[in-house]
Amino acid sequence: MELDKHAEDLASDLGVDKEEVTADLQNLVEYSVPIDEAKQSLRRKYGDGSSGGGGAPSSKDLGDVTPEDGNVTVTGVVLTAGKRSIRYQGDDHVIVEGRLADETGAIDYTAWEDFGLSPGDTITAGNAGVREWDGEPELNLGESTSLSFEEESLDIPYESGGESQLADLHTGDRAVTVDVTVTDCERRTIDGRDGETEILSGVVGDESGRLPFTNWDPVPEIEDGGTVRIENAYVQEFRGVPEVNVSEFSSVTPLEAEIDVGADATTMNVGDAVRTGGIYDVELSGNVIAVRDGSGLIQRCPECYRVVQKGQCRTHGDVDGIDDMRVKAILDDGTGAVTVVLDDDLTEQVYDGTLEDALEQAREAMDQEVVADTIRDRIVGLEYRVRGHLSVDEYGSNLDAESFEERSDDPTARARAFLEEVDA
Ligand SMILES: [Zn+2]
Repeated sequence: MELDKHAEDLASDLGVDKEEVTADLQNLVEYSVPIDEAKQSLRRKYGDGSSGGGGAPSSKDLGDVTPEDGNVTVTGVVLTAGKRSIRYQGDDHVIVEGRLADETGAIDYTAWEDFGLSPGDTITAGNAGVREWDGEPELNLGESTSLSFEEESLDIPYESGGESQLADLHTGDRAVTVDVTVTDCERRTIDGRDGETEILSGVVGDESGRLPFTNWDPVPEIEDGGTVRIENAYVQEFRGVPEVNVSEFSSVTPLEAEIDVGADATTMNVGDAVRTGGIYDVELSGNVIAVRDGSGLIQRCPECYRVVQKGQCRTHGDVDGIDDMRVKAILDDGTGAVTVVLDDDLTEQVYDGTLEDALEQAREAMDQEVVADTIRDRIVGLEYRVRGHLSVDEYGSNLDAESFEERSDDPTARARAFLEEVDA
């Protein structure tokens, strides 16, 4: 498949055996090294001196570096430098990731060697590799990079240190520093890459919002209700939303100051929300245009808790399902649509009855679909304000609702507020 094509290109570029390149590439990709990074590192391994057109790489301002540059020499101030462990050719390997800036711009970098970079350092990186990531250029500092520390600093329009508010964090951010209150925290055992391991996971918040977190190497400073400064965390997508990752290289210090966790969710239109690719806490408004199949009275597998159909779990086969209720409603505001998923409590609210009531109704009708029909009659065509976690992935755009309220406020007042917003 695709990998084969990459291997073939590489092998012919580098003039080496294709099988060897394929094996190396497969190995790297297996350890979740992105394909571009894997190719770049194989170019280094097999000594591709020609990449970038040959000759000594030219000196460039960071603002002028493009993904088409092969290798460049740049001078800049290290804004952030975060260590992270990745598995590389079967071994754990510590890399340093962050941002580098000069007067003209800032760029992400990955250092494959320990150059001892820290925020505030001014460096010149000779023969740094350039790769493309998500349409943007990034620097690779590796074996073939000559790195020197400069005495004189640059006057740059950026702050070093990576301090950020939760609302401004995006998947892919590295070496971030946040001051947060832990609003939810639990210890879990997971199947890690080295067998069973204990982690902490939960939710952190600041004035700007809330995000889920995982602490891969549990520290006592992270506890429910605690207020902490987390340095050198990275942001990765988990279940469709950005998540703060606290690793063995992060530092966590308790804070004296109180942090007010903002109670307001971000309010957006549906189209914009979907385009973000996933938000942890968002408020959307729109009309329920349909209630999807699989709503109302459902049965779940007692083993894995997934929905069973005709007594069959996809994984566990014939099972004695547990009765439950949920709603999958399509919410549309004219800019886009999402599937809003209501849990059992919210479903009981819109059904206006308990699970027992629903079972009773189904028994009388000798058809459990009547429960979904009842809910359909109640909510389709009405306007709702929904708050919850939006994930956008191959399963579509799903909003796990925490609240689901009919918008009964006066439409004239709303129109007036909207016009004021437009005028302003
Ligand atoms: Zn199951």
